[in-house]
Amino acid sequence: MFDWLVVGAGFAGSVLAERLAEVRGEKVLLVDRRGHIGGNAYDCHDAAGLLIHRYGPHIFHTNAQRVLDHLSRFTAWRPYEHRVLGVVDGRLVPIPINRTTINRLYGLGLTTEEQVEAFFADRAEAVEPVLSSRDVVVSRVGQELYEKFFEGYTRKQWGLDPSELDRSVTARVPVRTNDDDRYFTDRFQCMPADGYTAMFRRMLDHPNITVELGTDFAALRERPVARRIVYTGPVDEYFGHALGRLPYRSLRFEHEILDREWAQPVGTVNYPQTEAYTRISEWKHITGQQHAKTSIVREYPSAEGDPYYPVPRPENQALYKRYEAMADAAPDVWFVGRLATYRYYNMDQVVGQALATFDQIQASVPRAGASFVTQVRATASAR
Ligand code: FAD
Ligand code: UDP
Repeated sequence: MFDWLVVGAGFAGSVLAERLAEVRGEKVLLVDRRGHIGGNAYDCHDAAGLLIHRYGPHIFHTNAQRVLDHLSRFTAWRPYEHRVLGVVDGRLVPIPINRTTINRLYGLGLTTEEQVEAFFADRAEAVEPVLSSRDVVVSRVGQELYEKFFEGYTRKQWGLDPSELDRSVTARVPVRTNDDDRYFTDRFQCMPADGYTAMFRRMLDHPNITVELGTDFAALRERPVARRIVYTGPVDEYFGHALGRLPYRSLRFEHEILDREWAQPVGTVNYPQTEAYTRISEWKHITGQQHAKTSIVREYPSAEGDPYYPVPRPENQALYKRYEAMADAAPDVWFVGRLATYRYYNMDQVVGQALATFDQIQASVPRAGASFVTQVRATASAR
């Protein structure tokens, strides 16, 4: 009998497993139905010995000192700032849209932020209220840039028109008036020095943690393996889809090794107007590895396959809220992570959520084996 069964060895499950084992000294069984740890952040070497991310490019960026400090217990970092170009009207231009993008696309020589702001203001359309992923872009830069950069990409990625998606989706990508061509502007931008899987391995290397891979929660459900559960899989699946299926968007990843040193000038090139795939990423930019060959991945969005993205739109949120009420009422089960809380979270947000959940557990769940007296003492000294 374990104290905790943790379902899913991604960021949510692994961060919590380590905290429960290390801080509370409790016995944890961590299972994942896949054959590896790391969840969607898993990386490995391909046939040419190039480090690749099996489930698409994972760039670490955060403003949260606590999250960085926590992960730094398990990895050193390599500084890396991600850059993205888009193939638009046959030209390679920076994404997010910035001053360089506008100058290159329209053959202009804008030099100040005010000039670029005026360029956007001329084209912006009044939209009130700003609700959808179309509204948020059109109200900032107008219909033409919206069509060039966002409409096609979003339709491919989500199988929906931007007008059918919550504004938060395209709002992830800002519009800039300066010439900053970084994809992210967070305070901390870096990659785990030996890769994600090595970081997860160190996190889970603990005498109180037992990892069982290739094990589905479904096989353990009826067996009393632990007193409490941390569940990080899809929330609707936990409840047997009792209220209907929550939509998740999937991707097919096409990895390819190329017999040349470089394939493209930056880590990722987006294709908002052409191709069936959304983007191509080249690992060596992202990992810093040196190699005579190079390896790339193309992402083909799909309705079928592993769940990768919750789909942010009002009706899905409403259905999730009903599942959330069931989750809140489930005794001794904690739902954490991108799939279990149906939130379009980045890695750092999932780590932050897992650490916050651990704080809640500390505040409300007596430690296994602790007598009432020691529990009261521990709580008092924690204050
Ligand atoms: P997951 O990593 O999905 O882990 C959940 C685990 O639970 C999985 O391993 C799954 O196999 C397992 N599981 C589910 N159900 C069961 C079950 N019934 N039984 C056993 N095991 C089960 N974030 C960033 O910060 N930067 C990026 O650049 C970035 N790029 C991304 C690119 C892509 C293509 C994708 C899809 C995501 C990207 N993300 C990025 C987001 C990042 O992947 C997630 O925030 C993070 O991995 C979520 O961690 P998690 O533990 O919640 O979920
Ligand atoms: N997006 C777009 N064109 C781009 C890049 C992004 O339309 O060139 C939209 C698209 O809807 C995408 C969303 O913005 O799903 C968020 O982009 P991000 O790069 O954050 O997606 P992720 O890396 O999470 O797949």
